Amino acid sequence: MNNAEEKPKRKIIHIDMDAFYASVEQRDFPEFRGKPLAVGGSPDGRGVVATASYEARKFGVRSAMSSKTALQLCPHLLFTKPRFEAYKEVSQKIREIFSRYTDLIEPLSLDEAYLDVSEDKMNIGSAIDIAKAIKDAIKNELNLTASAGVSVNKFVAKIASDINKPDGLTFIGPSKIIPFMEALPVEKFFGVGKVTALKMKNLGLFYGSDLKKLSENEMQKHFGKTGKFFYQIVRGFDDRPVNANRISKSIGAEDTFENDIDDIEVLKKEIEKLSIIVYNRLNVKNKEGKTLTLKVKFSDFSQITRSYTFINYVTDQKVIFENAVELLNKIDLENKKIRLLGVTISNFYNEENDIITFRQLNLFDDFEEAD
Ligand SMILES: [Mg+2]
Repeated sequence: MNNAEEKPKRKIIHIDMDAFYASVEQRDFPEFRGKPLAVGGSPDGRGVVATASYEARKFGVRSAMSSKTALQLCPHLLFTKPRFEAYKEVSQKIREIFSRYTDLIEPLSLDEAYLDVSEDKMNIGSAIDIAKAIKDAIKNELNLTASAGVSVNKFVAKIASDINKPDGLTFIGPSKIIPFMEALPVEKFFGVGKVTALKMKNLGLFYGSDLKKLSENEMQKHFGKTGKFFYQIVRGFDDRPVNANRISKSIGAEDTFENDIDDIEVLKKEIEKLSIIVYNRLNVKNKEGKTLTLKVKFSDFSQITRSYTFINYVTDQKVIFENAVELLNKIDLENKKIRLLGVTISNFYNEENDIITFRQLNLFDDFEEAD
């Protein structure tokens, strides 16, 4: 008898608000409705888009894109400043809706959470019905839409919520998981960034079924720790529980470049972009930290980190940016090319007593977009 089959299946829902910041702005300000809108960034081309409305996405505007690029794609794009207080308030209301059905809630960000409804407080039983009820409540009470993915593990639930966005509900049952993972293009695997996807394709790996041809060791050799994880996931194994007690210890962002970089000005631009993303994440997660860490990975895959601890908590994006550049300046870059940069803030205020509301993403926090 196979142990894996004996275990009772979990019922996992992944809820993801649709274009969250932009949708809240369009809800609250009628002049933005039906218009291509960027939250974050600026019409003078500076800064980075945090979230784009669906009207803007039609032009190719995306999260983490520079305003300059966004304007090239969509010249009549409107910009508005993020209102984190408003998003936090909505997020708390969404959380309250979740808590009617379960206490096993693992928020990934302001607009996204895993729910374990294996046992639900209302005795509804069907995870699909619970997902529907949650979506309805969000629509009726908050005038916003969410997409839901329902499955027996977190990985599949998360991919499922993305399938019929916006306002989608996708169920992938146990018998569908294996064929679903086999047919999934590699770039759709949650956690596979553009660089990893390219690497996979260069190895002739285009779909989940291709990944399955590699042994666990081969996967690890090519893709490191995540390779091992993908080996499991493509076979439908994901035992990670919905963790309602995870507290973030750090918040960061990193980027692997398509081509290795040695131009200091380009590197500075990258650091600025990462600083803005980190600053926004600190804001939405209500965090202030004292320690700044810069991670640098070179073209030969060797990696170093440099940290600086401030006397006071960092509350300014410019401070993050300027000090991260300082850290970079202290590294000997002679004859070296850089393939990845990362900026992280840790050493948070009042870590122990932090209200368990905003938690770190488990595996791929660094790659999460504010969608
Ligand atoms: Mg979202």
